[in-house]
This record gives sequence, structure tokens and C-alpha cells, in this order.
Amino acid sequence: MLLKMPQKLLKTAHYIELGSYQHWPVLIPQRIRLYTFEQIPLFLKENPYITDGYRAHLPSKLCLRSIFMLSNETVNIWSHLLGFLLFFSLGVNDLSSVLPASGANREDYVIYAIGLFCFQVCMLCSVGYHLFSCHRSEKTCRRWLALDYAGISVGILGCYVPGIFYAFYCNAFWRQVYLLTVLSLILAVFCAQVHPRYLSNDWRRIRVTIFCCVAGISVIPACHWVWLTGGFTSDVVQLFLPRVLVMYLIAGSAFLFYVTKIPERYFPGQLNYLGASHQVWHILVVVMFYWWHQTAVHIMHFRHSQACPTRTSSG
Ligand SMILES: [Zn+2]
Repeated sequence: MLLKMPQKLLKTAHYIELGSYQHWPVLIPQRIRLYTFEQIPLFLKENPYITDGYRAHLPSKLCLRSIFMLSNETVNIWSHLLGFLLFFSLGVNDLSSVLPASGANREDYVIYAIGLFCFQVCMLCSVGYHLFSCHRSEKTCRRWLALDYAGISVGILGCYVPGIFYAFYCNAFWRQVYLLTVLSLILAVFCAQVHPRYLSNDWRRIRVTIFCCVAGISVIPACHWVWLTGGFTSDVVQLFLPRVLVMYLIAGSAFLFYVTKIPERYFPGQLNYLGASHQVWHILVVVMFYWWHQTAVHIMHFRHSQACPTRTSSG
């Protein structure tokens, strides 16, 4: 990034002391300095294993300008900013070439638009939170944190909508039942998120439980789909169940990194800028959304190439 900076900006590069690295050349916007874990306000003390590189006490304008400096949030901000660009360009590509080429109808367009829009909202909420978590007002930080959580729910919704739509493509009744259930579930999570106590530390466990429920409940439509389509021996299930299992694997490992704070708990202070669990979580979320999008493309091609079977099962 440093190389791409215009020459004029490079002249204003400052040398600062970053963690244990003396005189690391970084573009530091003026009046921004970094703090250690002990120096930051209480509401920012989230992860004691990240010992240095914190931005804090900044007004909005400097929060925005800190995007170009190296702090312990740089990778978090840029991973989801690039994630946003990825899903934006995937959206453009889908609407302009993938969908027209596969003979998509209006419903396909709507489903893809919803899915990719949800992914982009999730990415942007996350960028916003990591950018403004250094704001001098605790209230502003809390609002961005709430938006980050809301963004995750929206991202989960973006996985559910195409998943349910194509899994129950030939069964309008169950498709509607599951879509409505998921929509009301996500809406309920939204209501919990505006609850003033939702972000308090004693609700940490409840927050994790709520997200586990919202994601874990997907096992029900997944099993139902296997049963409705003729069990493990059916072609459709053999074709797509491995992809669903990989999805659970990515989501599960992302979640494990998120809650256990591995690997930085074993190397406190050494992964402040690169390699921390939250960065792994961010990258796995992008990988997961991308994987699910590709799965949706595959299953859409399949649905368009084969007519729905004449009714053999109930529902
Ligand atoms: Zn994050």
C-alpha cells in the first residue's frame, strides 16, 4: 500500500515506535498515536492477548484517516473492505453474465440480489465497526458494535435465502415455511440487538448463544431437504451434501477462532498486527460467503437443467 501512495503523501511519512519494532516506517496521519492495552479505555479492552497497536480517543475524521495507518485493526478493516469489493463485483458479474447465460428467471435474479446484498451489508458494517471502534465517544463505539452484530445476522440471512430457495425449489410449501421462519428469526435477533443490555459484558454468553441458534437451526431444513429429496442415495443429495458439509466446517472453524482467541492466547503480544484470531475469523467469513455463493450458482445450474420430479413425497 505504501508503494501506491502518491509521492506527495510519502513525504509526510512519520517514523513511530510500534510495539517492539523500533522506527517502523508508517504513514501516520498527524495527531494519531497508538496505545498499549493498559492505556486504552475500559470499553475497548476486549482481548488482553493483543497488547499493543490500539487506536483510541479519536474524532470521526481521524478514525476515517486511520484507515491508511498500521494498527492492530488494519487487517480487520481491509479484509472486509476487500470482501465488500469481492461481493460487489460478484454481483455485477452475476447480473451481467452468469444469470443471463443460465437462462435465469426473475426469481433467480431476486434471490441472487438479496444474497449478495446481504453479504455486502455484512462486510460494510464490519468495516465501519473496526474503523470507528477507536472513536472517543463510548456511545458511538457501542452503536458501531451493535451494527457489526446486526451485520452478521444480515450475512447469515444472505446464506439462508438462496440455500432454502434452491434446496426446496420443487416444494413451494416448505420453501415458504422455512423462508418465513428464517425471516422472523433474524427479525427477533434484530429486536434483541436494540436491547440496551445486549452489548453489556454479562450478556456475552447470551450473544454467542443467539448466534449459535440462528446458524445451528439450519440443520433442521438441511436434514429435511435430505429426507424430502430421497435420502443419502439420491443424486441431488450426493451432489450437494458435501458442499453443505464444507460450509458447516468453515463456519464451525470460524466460530472456534472467534470464541477461543487462538492463536494469540498462546503468543500474547506477538500477533498484535498479523495472525490474530479475529483476522482469521474475518477471512473465514469471506471464504464462507464465497463458498456459499458458488454453491448457489451450481445448484441453480442443476435446477435449470433438470425439471422438478413429479410429486413422489408428501408436502
Ligand atoms: Zn470483526
